[in-house]
Amino acid sequence: MHDLNPQPDGAWLTVPDRDYEELESEILRVHRDSRAGEMQVEFGRIYECPDCGRVMWARPGDSTYVVFAREL
Ligand SMILES: [Zn+2]
Repeated sequence: MHDLNPQPDGAWLTVPDRDYEELESEILRVHRDSRAGEMQVEFGRIYECPDCGRVMWARPGDSTYVVFAREL
């Protein structure tokens, strides 16, 4: 069994490098104006199994997780 149950505080967030400047702008906007609402930039999520190191990754905007096994 792999401990890959998605948990909000156990995830790594991923953003494409090409979207990073937009993300910075969004963070500044949301911090300056509490009425600015939620950020528009979408994050991908990665969870890592603490036992075997497998990761499951959902890319930004995609709810399907792909599992990657560590090479031994
Ligand atoms: Zn595992």
